[in-house]
Amino acid sequence: MQVLKFGGTSVGNAQAIDQVCQIVNQYPRKGQLVVVVSAMSGTTDKLIKAGELSGKSHDGYKTLLQEIEARHLDTIRELFPIGAQSGLLSQVKKRLNELELLCDGIYQVGELSRRCLDQIMSFGELLSSYLVAERLKLLGLNAAWKDSRELIMTDDHFGNAQVDQEMTEHQVTKYFQHAAAEYIVVPGFIAANAERDTTTLGRGGSDYTAAIIAAAMDANRLEIWTDVSGMMTADPRLVPQAIPIPHISYAEAMELSHFGAKVIYPPTIQPVMDRRIPIWIKNTFAPHDYGTLIQDNGEKPFPVTGISGIQHIALLTLEGSGMVGIPGFSKRLFDALLRERINVILITQSSSEHSITVGIHETDMLKAKAAVDSEFSQEIFDKKIAPLLVEKDLCIVAAVGDNMKNYHGLSGKLFGALGRNAINVRAIAQGSTEKNISAVINKADVKKALNVIHEAFFENETKQVNLFVAGVGNVGGKLLEQLHQQQHFLLNELGIQVRIIAVANSRQMVFSEDGLSHDKWKDALAQGDSMDLQQFAAKLKSMNLRNSVFVDNTASEDVARIYETFLQHGISVVTCNKIACSASYASYKKLKDLARKFNASFLFETNVGAGLPVINTLNDLVRSGDKVRTIEAVLSGSLNFVFNNFVNGADFRKVVKAAQDEGYTEPDPRIDLSGKDVMRKILILARESGAEMELEDIENHSFLPAECLEAADVAGFYEQLDVHANHFQQLLQNANDEGKRLKFVARYHNGKASVGLQAVAPDHPFYKLEGKDNIVLYTTNRYAEQPLIVRGAGAGADVTASGIFADIMRTVRN
Ligand code: ADP
Ligand code: ASP
Ligand code: MG
Repeated sequence: MQVLKFGGTSVGNAQAIDQVCQIVNQYPRKGQLVVVVSAMSGTTDKLIKAGELSGKSHDGYKTLLQEIEARHLDTIRELFPIGAQSGLLSQVKKRLNELELLCDGIYQVGELSRRCLDQIMSFGELLSSYLVAERLKLLGLNAAWKDSRELIMTDDHFGNAQVDQEMTEHQVTKYFQHAAAEYIVVPGFIAANAERDTTTLGRGGSDYTAAIIAAAMDANRLEIWTDVSGMMTADPRLVPQAIPIPHISYAEAMELSHFGAKVIYPPTIQPVMDRRIPIWIKNTFAPHDYGTLIQDNGEKPFPVTGISGIQHIALLTLEGSGMVGIPGFSKRLFDALLRERINVILITQSSSEHSITVGIHETDMLKAKAAVDSEFSQEIFDKKIAPLLVEKDLCIVAAVGDNMKNYHGLSGKLFGALGRNAINVRAIAQGSTEKNISAVINKADVKKALNVIHEAFFENETKQVNLFVAGVGNVGGKLLEQLHQQQHFLLNELGIQVRIIAVANSRQMVFSEDGLSHDKWKDALAQGDSMDLQQFAAKLKSMNLRNSVFVDNTASEDVARIYETFLQHGISVVTCNKIACSASYASYKKLKDLARKFNASFLFETNVGAGLPVINTLNDLVRSGDKVRTIEAVLSGSLNFVFNNFVNGADFRKVVKAAQDEGYTEPDPRIDLSGKDVMRKILILARESGAEMELEDIENHSFLPAECLEAADVAGFYEQLDVHANHFQQLLQNANDEGKRLKFVARYHNGKASVGLQAVAPDHPFYKLEGKDNIVLYTTNRYAEQPLIVRGAGAGADVTASGIFADIMRTVRN
């Protein structure tokens, strides 16, 4: 005998039922074939709602019953030829009338008992199984329908009745031994107590019905046909990259299902496991997919077989010095919970015995609090222990696998992955069998947690990085282009999948959970919402995606101000905006500390020298124990342009204007010419070398006369350049006379920094600096004789974008 169970989606409409019947028809049957079916998907929920409404004397139940009726009658009309319809329609209507009468009665009384609710719920399976049986007959199969309330016997615990094994086995064997039909269709989920009242086996219980029959008849196989291609490495609705697990042991399947893998109802496994009957999970809608075979001794490609999560968890903590060394406290705690029939899902106890923590379902939380506080009322009164602490809005995530015991470092990997993504772990449990490592976390983090754990254990090949990009002008636009060009290389060679989740400019913003493709982002942004930084930040945080990176390509102070909140949420920040790192030392330090504390990266290589490895080189020196003595640098692309072109015969004003026209300066060239920008850069290098310095501590030997700086606007500034033309000519003349060239140099030495124009001799490394190149000389304890030199193009959208790109890649490695 084989037992096949079809779930709610598998019988969810006429097409699906037809598919089920084809699977049954083509099945290589050996002996009897038992077909157990669930209610049409969503029906049980509707029945419960209808029962509850009638119990509150609310006539909304009538609409729900009409919807249930319409769905079943429509299915008959689609599934059966007209000639066969009327008999079926009247049978189904008769059943539905019984249901209506039942609800009407409850409506009159205004009270819904658990007993009546079970009766109401039974109609879902009764109807669907009837349709399947009739359809099989229509295909010419020798099929019969059997009411499972005559087979499965339970106690009176309505809603979650316990099966009377002995009676049930007796009834099942008695019936099947004499059943003449080859195909026997049975409604799942429902059963009866000794008084013949209808009971139910718990939500999702149709799987259990099938298992009970398979075990009683010692079937050679139990198949659970559902809407996914097997038990997956994680819930596919939460982890889209989850993959089916081809082979899994009973123990693992049991563990995963207890920890939330809804694909199989947890009690299902025990009865078939006891008889070593293999369970095969198959997909009704992709019957050729292998699915999952549950039996012992399967192959195990990974140390962890699957991960899952249980939502709506509350933690109860009993704590107090009165517990230390005194036996019996735990027993009394568990007894109190047992008396209320509260199921304990997780237990941890500190070795000091000072506290014990258990995880339960949130719905039991108030009952638990009352029961435990009453059990320990004397101790609480005597202040030996504290009243029970209850925390809610939690969930459990668990990694499961028989093989875990043979590997070391798995819990490190799991908690490391959570930690790197700023997911706080509230409690931990690992059984000594090492089949399961569980962590209790906040419910808001469940999706992210499952995804990062999944990535850590099953996706060694690829790591997903989610980017939120503010500023898509010159630099930002180039960055997106470069990311697009490199996407195949990143994926195939480095296993990194970069997704652009959001882009924003100062006017608009757009988000896409699946990522914005390169050809779409511009249009999407044009049609996006109007930009609001607070909303942008709130949405980024609430999406709570793993490996999130905020990329700031703006020069905005407001944008710089929100880094803090991102870092606090473990979201990395990559920025070419200098404002944050050149603001007060306290705020710079705070950002660095937050990044360290919350395991996020805060990277700003492009703040100095665009894409040149200026800051990273410095970081490597400092981290490896070197000490910076002096930094000398030419750091301004705009000033280089100006002084490289300000040669004999040139007019200073025209040179500055040309620099502005070619995009080498800020819209107000004074920001560059005043040396302010260079001050910020040397400040950042000084800070990264370890100096606690403020911008005001830097000396600025400005070459601009005060009138130029003080001009009311840019036009006035240019006028003043003309007025002071001689001053500039003189500067040039003096340098020329000595055979030197003018460079705007930044210097840091012994805790002091300065910027200013300097005439450099031909033997100086700065002398030959051309175009928009930058140069930095690091003289350190190790590089004492000759400085370490970093030199190359230090401005331009392309190189800046590539520097940001490199920082994004660093966040992945960190
Ligand atoms: P049925 O109605 O066929 O009994 P269920 O809805 O009870 O189906 O269970 C199947 C669903 O379980 C899948 O659609 C999937 O969304 C969910 N699920 C949760 N965890 C897992 C997992 N680890 N593997 C497969 N499915 C899972
Ligand atoms: N129909 C029931 C439920 O929705 C049982 C099942 O589908 O397994 O819970
Ligand atoms: Mg199910």
